[in-house]
Amino acid sequence: MKVLVINCGSSSLKYQLIDMETEKSLVSGLVERIGIDGSILTQKVEGKDKYIIKQDMKDHKEAIKLVLEALLNKEHAVIESMDEITAVGHRVVHGGEKYSDSVLIDDEVIELIKDCIPLAPLHNPPNIIGIEACKELMPNTPMAAVFDTAFHQTMPKVAYICPLPYELYEKYGIRRYGFHGTSHKYVSQKVAEVMNRDIKDLKIITCHLGNGCSLAAVKGGKSIDTSMGFTPLAGVMMGTRSGNIDPSVIAFLVEQQGYKLEEVNEMLNKKSGLLGISGVSSDFRDVQMAAEQGNERAKLALDIFNYKIRAQIASYAGIMGGVDVIVFTAGIGENSSFARKEVLKGLEFLGFNIDEEKNEVRGEVQEISTKDSKVKVYEIPTNEELVIARDTVKLLNK
Ligand code: AMP
Repeated sequence: MKVLVINCGSSSLKYQLIDMETEKSLVSGLVERIGIDGSILTQKVEGKDKYIIKQDMKDHKEAIKLVLEALLNKEHAVIESMDEITAVGHRVVHGGEKYSDSVLIDDEVIELIKDCIPLAPLHNPPNIIGIEACKELMPNTPMAAVFDTAFHQTMPKVAYICPLPYELYEKYGIRRYGFHGTSHKYVSQKVAEVMNRDIKDLKIITCHLGNGCSLAAVKGGKSIDTSMGFTPLAGVMMGTRSGNIDPSVIAFLVEQQGYKLEEVNEMLNKKSGLLGISGVSSDFRDVQMAAEQGNERAKLALDIFNYKIRAQIASYAGIMGGVDVIVFTAGIGENSSFARKEVLKGLEFLGFNIDEEKNEVRGEVQEISTKDSKVKVYEIPTNEELVIARDTVKLLNK
């Protein structure tokens, strides 16, 4: 059985075809600049040259058409006919309060995803476009929606209700939802498996540190708190996002300094975080390089980044009444021994020490705490696509 996993962004589309017998990715690809001049599709198959198609694609439907052509292309083929694609799994960012798990897509589900657009105006529309394009091009292939918010629907009210007038929750659904759920779910389950422990007995803190960053407190396999909130702007500092700040800053900039609300919104989402403080880049590697060359603001950006994450880890150990394992994942979490080491500095009182040599390993499942550590620390490469494909198969077999 082969499942096509689709992740549509506003002008991009990532895809993977996964063989569910082996759970191996047969092909992965990226379409960029959809609807913009210079659209490009890049497809990778293990052991073969990259397959690149440069051809303008005016919308996601054209992009998906080209993806299907690329999958069937004579020279680069991984499948011989479309019938080999048993199902399609779509990443959908926001499922609101309605979805605490993945669902098979029908017209009602599409309507409900549309209802969540006000909660995720940048993310849900391209997700829906991707679903509708696939529906048109592959009308007989079942599809599933896997939500970024779903894993966090187990959070208790004490974690998700904002200290605002309660009517705002009742009227508008203003509450904390949390994101990156597919990744937090995958790495928490994976670490339990690697440790050969029942996840029900574990208190896990998962740190998804990439361009977007979020942490989750996973107790007994369930997310009981996470750092992102009503939107993915909340929580710890990120590449270009501020994370939590005093909300009065917004009123101050608008009322006292003449900024437009859209400008402040753009600033908080796209010009803050590592980029905003360093003035160098939103990319962790660039900022680290600048810091090593003596750039003081780059150094400050890294210090604040690490400090916010350290504080969040300590807080989650507090609310769970301890921690058994801390997991690092995503671009920075999987690859940067420097970030892991700096984030964890001062937290050794929780009951771990870092094995410096093991911490140098990059992008692999790896315990990085010393053997005698009571609390374990791991790096686990995330695999959101595999969770999407697994959930899709689970729904098909129901
Ligand atoms: P993601 O959003 O998960 O793709 O992560 C992107 C982030 O990971 C960027 O800030 C990159 O600089 C960072 N990253 C990727 N590889 C490394 C590496 N080897 N060392 C440090 N940071 C890295």
